[in-house]
Amino acid sequence: MLSSQNRVLAVLIASGSIAAVALTAIVLPAIAAPTPPNATHELIQGFAERCAAMPQIMAGLWPDPTTHVITAIMRPAGYEITQAHQPDQPGIPLALPPHCEVEAVMRRRSGVDGQNYAIRFRLRLPEAWTGRLLFQGGGGTNGTVGDAIGPMGAGRLDALSQGYAVLAQDSGHDNTVNSDPARGGTVAFGFDPVARADYGGLSLRPVTLAAKAMVARFFGKAPRYAYFMGCSKGGQEGMMVAQRYPDLFDGIVAAAPGFSLPRAALAEAWNTQAFAGVLQSAGQPVTMQNLARTFSAEAGALVRSAVLAACDRDDGLADGIVGAPAQCTSAKVIPKLRAATCRPGNSVSCLSDTQVAALAKIHDGLRDSAGRQIYPGFAWDAGWFDGGWRIWMTGLAQPAVPALNVVLGGPSRAAVFSTPPQPVPSSPEALLAYQLAFSADRDAGAILRREQPFVRSSWEDIGARSIDLSAFHARGGKLLIPHGVSDPVFSVNDTIAWWRDVDAATGGHAARFARVFPIPGMAHCQGGPATDQTDAFDTLVKWVEQGQSPDQISGEAGPGSPWPGRKRPICRYPLELKAKVSGGKESFACVAPVTARGRR
Ligand code: CA
Repeated sequence: MLSSQNRVLAVLIASGSIAAVALTAIVLPAIAAPTPPNATHELIQGFAERCAAMPQIMAGLWPDPTTHVITAIMRPAGYEITQAHQPDQPGIPLALPPHCEVEAVMRRRSGVDGQNYAIRFRLRLPEAWTGRLLFQGGGGTNGTVGDAIGPMGAGRLDALSQGYAVLAQDSGHDNTVNSDPARGGTVAFGFDPVARADYGGLSLRPVTLAAKAMVARFFGKAPRYAYFMGCSKGGQEGMMVAQRYPDLFDGIVAAAPGFSLPRAALAEAWNTQAFAGVLQSAGQPVTMQNLARTFSAEAGALVRSAVLAACDRDDGLADGIVGAPAQCTSAKVIPKLRAATCRPGNSVSCLSDTQVAALAKIHDGLRDSAGRQIYPGFAWDAGWFDGGWRIWMTGLAQPAVPALNVVLGGPSRAAVFSTPPQPVPSSPEALLAYQLAFSADRDAGAILRREQPFVRSSWEDIGARSIDLSAFHARGGKLLIPHGVSDPVFSVNDTIAWWRDVDAATGGHAARFARVFPIPGMAHCQGGPATDQTDAFDTLVKWVEQGQSPDQISGEAGPGSPWPGRKRPICRYPLELKAKVSGGKESFACVAPVTARGRR
């Protein structure tokens, strides 16, 4: 029988990924003089040696005793990783500062679906640690352990290089192990109730506690500040920790939060049906290819022009940015769309009545047959029909890219958000049929249903829409929520409605701890005709550590925008952008919106 230390050693050797220096560091204390766990840390001098000895340093001290280290490897200065990238773009190598990279696992178990599950996570501990911890949130349906560098966007130093210890996890399932082609591939974990709950947020607390314990033992002191940052599913995780685990983090960036994910998944079917209606009324077959052609490039440009004609100047400047989105109502936009419909005289480039009806349906949002709103509609904005918007709503015609509302939204709704999980259609056309068959009256209840072995609904597991943030507020937590106004999958109107509810519940004091920053023109997390590159995280840190409450964050347009380098403040809701042009020079401010009774 091996001692626990030697068992760890055997695992490390078997893994073949341990450096000679690390072996020496582990073997010596283990063989020469077995020491109680609490003394191990003090005996091991040197950053690299302590890194290699992480299994010993943590032995017996894990908050969750099922946790163990898989590898702990010293990465020298200049160690390169290739950042996650789009399939059609080469990966960008990124040089990292010297740090200890730890991969660990906890809660290995067998699921009711016969799959083997575990929660895996990665923590990078920088040599030049500043006393801060950042949890890097996940994305999509998770299932991969994030790179744990804390990317901050183009031109900004990653968090690890800024001296943060950075954590990432897979949220309890592994796409390389748990994918099942018969059950929608990577969404197959939805057939196991614990895997679904871990994905929804149950995994967040044990992983955070493990990382905090590692930081405390490794550096000899607990983190001074703990942060969370994520977008989309990662934004949902940020909302989840603020609401359910308010003790864990001092500051959270929850960008484009999927905090109503099960409802948003229903709305994806609704939106697909809206576009299918354009084809049906024209007598065309509803196929994935035709869906992408429901609006030609010219038709999309007409929509954008109509929105800008209605709303661009509300912020004082016709610049292609709707800087006062709350003023951009259907009462203004629909007449401009109708003016662009086909009739004698404007038939060269025009919209059909059914196209306008489809847009109005998407703006109005998902309702049941009694008219009850299930998910808010999507805000009129200048980013509609930009590539990042189309890829969800209609797909792209050339090159052909299938609509994510169908090929991602469909499988997720079937396997992850429905109780009981439903068989997942296997082809894009079958998924399209599944979305077209959606009925709010009949199918929306699947996100609220409990049925053995699912003791909680998907809404209870994954929804993070509580308006009670009292515990987070009481501990001094700060929550910063950037959200694209042209986000085609999670409606900014849902985020704003939630914030208003929080504000009402706190007597108008929500801004003390939670601020929403709608980003005009921005699609899901990034992109669009927008100043989408922001200093949201830096702003959060100043709010948490220096008490600087932000009325704005700084936005800059990226290379894919119509105006690279353009800068605009991004205003916190309900403030609105106001431009002034004086002596040929533009200036911008965030001001209280004008109401019928004046500024409020
Ligand atoms: Ca404008």
